[in-house]
Amino acid sequence: MKIEEVFLDMDGVLTNFHKGVCDSFDQLYDLSNLSMWDFWKDWKPKTTRTNIIDICDQDFWAELEWHDEGHEILHALEDIYGAENIFLVTKPMPNPGSWTGKKMWVDEHLFRYGDRLIITEASRAMLASPTSLLVDDSQKNVDDFRMAGGQAILIPRPWNSLNRHKVIQHLEVELDMIRRKGREIKMLEGKTLHGHPQFYDLLQKMAELHSRKNHDYAGSENPLRNFYKCKEMGISPFKGIMVRLSDKWSRLESFLKQGVLEVKDESIKDTLMDSAVYSLLAMILFDEQLKENQACPENVNQE
Ligand SMILES: [Mg+2]
Repeated sequence: MKIEEVFLDMDGVLTNFHKGVCDSFDQLYDLSNLSMWDFWKDWKPKTTRTNIIDICDQDFWAELEWHDEGHEILHALEDIYGAENIFLVTKPMPNPGSWTGKKMWVDEHLFRYGDRLIITEASRAMLASPTSLLVDDSQKNVDDFRMAGGQAILIPRPWNSLNRHKVIQHLEVELDMIRRKGREIKMLEGKTLHGHPQFYDLLQKMAELHSRKNHDYAGSENPLRNFYKCKEMGISPFKGIMVRLSDKWSRLESFLKQGVLEVKDESIKDTLMDSAVYSLLAMILFDEQLKENQACPENVNQE
């Protein structure tokens, strides 16, 4: 589905809220040392949320600095979707000055977005649709937006699950995935698809899972190089993946016999999805092995 509108979060993506707080309390700002959003809880003397709200007045918000990579994130989105389709979205703090301060920041730094600024206490999931994209640093906002039917990109920051990812590299991989997804769905448009509609949703989810798991291998010459590690131990990648598939089947067998899961954090649906993905990868590795054997027949039966 083609993206028609982008909702771009401000704090933690474009504006550096954390540096603003550190500066206000004369604390050293070091992004690499942060691990949570409300990092001030560790300060001595103790700093409470009320203390933070009090200092976050109109001037605080109006004078925030740009976040690292904030300009690059905005330009990457503008290049693909056009500035006219991008909306800034931000949540005010209980300090009433946050409403006017945020507007003043946009007027000074991004005046052209003045009529596309959404300051709201409501959940941004209300904006979700199959043609909308949220770009946000909050895991919860991203999860909620996806659950509500929208597409979303989580910007890696120390306080979310992507804390070890590089911001721009991750953004480019995700944007590319969304573009390809749009093209793939377009390929199916206009064709009569028989069978259960959930089947096609699951195919899409399978593609997303494969792409996400391969995120760290983006740019690599061989996207399946983790499976090729088996070769170093004298096992073909095809046999290696068959072992992984058999592990998944053992798990399913065990569940059917005992009625309980040995590893609680992987559901039966996760196991079935992994089995489906591994089956497709096994087909690819089988084809690659055939090609290799044709090119070098003496390799056949060496294992
Ligand atoms: Mg944010």
